[in-house]
Amino acid sequence: MTPKPETLEFQTEVKQLLNIIVNSLYSNREIFLRELISNASDAIDKLNFEAQTNPDLLGEDTAFKIKLIPDKENKTLTVSDNGIGMTRDDVKENLGTIAKSGTAAFINALEQSKKENTLSAEMIGQFGVGFYSAFIVADKITVVTKSPFADKAVQWESAGQGEFTIEDAEKASRGTDIILHLKPVEQGEDDFTDQWALRRVIKQHSDFVRYPVVMDVEKEEPETGEDGKPLLDKDGNPVEGKTKTVIREETLNSMKAIWARNKNEISEEEYKDFYSHISHDWNPPLDRLHIKLEGTTEYTALLYIPSTAPFDLFHPERSHGVRLYSRRIFIMDNCKDLLPEYLRFIRGVVDAPDLNLNISRELLQQDALVRNIRKNLVKKILEKLENMDEETYGKFFDEFGAVIKEGAYNDWENKDRLTGLLRYKTTRSEDKWRSLEQYVADMQPEQEHIYYITGDTLSSIVNSPHLEALKEKDYEVLLMTDPVDEFVVQTLTEFKEKKLKSAEKGDLDIEPGDREEKTGYSDLFESLKSHLEDRVKDVKPSSHLKNSVSCLTGDTYDMSAYMEKILKATGQTIPKTKRILEINTHHPVVKKIKTIHEQNAQSDKLKDYSELLYDLAVIGEGGKVENPSRFNKLVADLMAEAIS
Ligand code: ADP
Repeated sequence: MTPKPETLEFQTEVKQLLNIIVNSLYSNREIFLRELISNASDAIDKLNFEAQTNPDLLGEDTAFKIKLIPDKENKTLTVSDNGIGMTRDDVKENLGTIAKSGTAAFINALEQSKKENTLSAEMIGQFGVGFYSAFIVADKITVVTKSPFADKAVQWESAGQGEFTIEDAEKASRGTDIILHLKPVEQGEDDFTDQWALRRVIKQHSDFVRYPVVMDVEKEEPETGEDGKPLLDKDGNPVEGKTKTVIREETLNSMKAIWARNKNEISEEEYKDFYSHISHDWNPPLDRLHIKLEGTTEYTALLYIPSTAPFDLFHPERSHGVRLYSRRIFIMDNCKDLLPEYLRFIRGVVDAPDLNLNISRELLQQDALVRNIRKNLVKKILEKLENMDEETYGKFFDEFGAVIKEGAYNDWENKDRLTGLLRYKTTRSEDKWRSLEQYVADMQPEQEHIYYITGDTLSSIVNSPHLEALKEKDYEVLLMTDPVDEFVVQTLTEFKEKKLKSAEKGDLDIEPGDREEKTGYSDLFESLKSHLEDRVKDVKPSSHLKNSVSCLTGDTYDMSAYMEKILKATGQTIPKTKRILEINTHHPVVKKIKTIHEQNAQSDKLKDYSELLYDLAVIGEGGKVENPSRFNKLVADLMAEAIS
């Protein structure tokens, strides 16, 4: 039974994306060709790879190529490949939906910036619009494709308006034809049925594609004589009037695998275009490494550090950006084993000539060669980052700091180097990044520890009462606002023999002997504690406070308030840790409360005041009081008393 023609709707995200592309990318029209050539080249790569184990797939059709067929009369451009093609199911899946994880969120972000008029080609470029970019130049696209795994060819057609049709088709050979019905050309725009426009775009964006990109061109050739040889005059030129017009297939790209070439023969432009080709990111990369290693572990790598973080950097199904080749034969993309998880933002190519071509993804991790390459690559990448100037590294850290921190707490082998690469905003940095190295160099002479505080946002922690005493001593405090920081400080306990110390937990160790002087308060504190028994585990004189009256702290090994928040956000149930209420004994209010306690230890006021001291501590760290209406009443009563 032949399946009927079907009319299907695009997935909502595709509709949104099509809308954004067509309305925002008209000034980048030519990129569609690079995207289609990339897809064609990937399709041939996939076939080539399958054919390693199943050579019969190829049949007679073994000359891989991508053909451009411009048709001036019908105003079409066809991009044809003899790659893996698509089955009916593939077509529905690939050309009607976007499978990439995190897409919906990203597209919503794009729509938002479109509304706010801040949408740029760079933003869309981060995502890689691929096939759909062809709707910039075409008002209708017909795809005819045949997979070696299906008996029937399939035709897909759409005007990019929300629907597409799928039906059976006739196609003799394996592969995919993408037929673009071109929109009318406006003044000043390239006409993509013109061979010179096509030549230029291919040379510029797709020169390094591994397969020939060909086109039929008309040529004047000398007439041949009876012997089949060209008719030439005595100087070797065609005899006047004795030429004929012939059609020849010409290859438009040089096909050189860029990574296999010598560095000094590759232009900046070529490096950049290759980056766009493999990463689908049009923004120029921040930096790159081109490495050729010889000896027992032989490999070539061309790796790029993007300038902006990919939208799926923290998505569980995020992509990895390294493609693995062996002697220029494609083995796999998204190769996870070549780099540790925290370097997943690196994009590029690794070519290992001695690698077993039939290696499976599962075995890759155990392969000794792969392990050595990985070790070596990590070293080179970290070196690259270490040697960046501070400004460039700052830009890098803005985008990828959080993943470097992931490395700092889980790559034991490179822990020291990764710690060196950490940067933090601090109470002294004025929005610049500071390294631990700089922190230690600028410590006060008597300062013993490196202080840090964790929390949601810079603004909430930089003004935290916990920092009052430290600020007065002019001790710098690292401001940590990434959830991952909580994990980093669990393993990073010291740097250059200086201990890292939380500014909100345990003693600050800044005023030895200060505690004894406050013992006169122990009766009052006992009383306050008895009123707050269900909320705090202790009431203590504060080593943190200078101006504020109270704050909440933890014991050295308690979970911080921010960590509690993070774990709650991930849906974990955590036992409530009671914290310590610290009281500023230098504060006039506390002195007054002490007097009340001395006069009548049973006074009702003490209960109200202990609650107020607690609530003020909660508010001071940006938290929410448990019972706002009661808090309101207590404060209003106090004001009334004070005013009368
Ligand atoms: P991407 O290439 O980033 O995955 P595209 O939207 O460009 O996204 O393409 C979607 C999918 O359609 C591809 O992943 C591929 O599976 C399939 N596809 C596109 N073009 C071709 C082609 N010429 N031959 C075979 N499959 C293709």
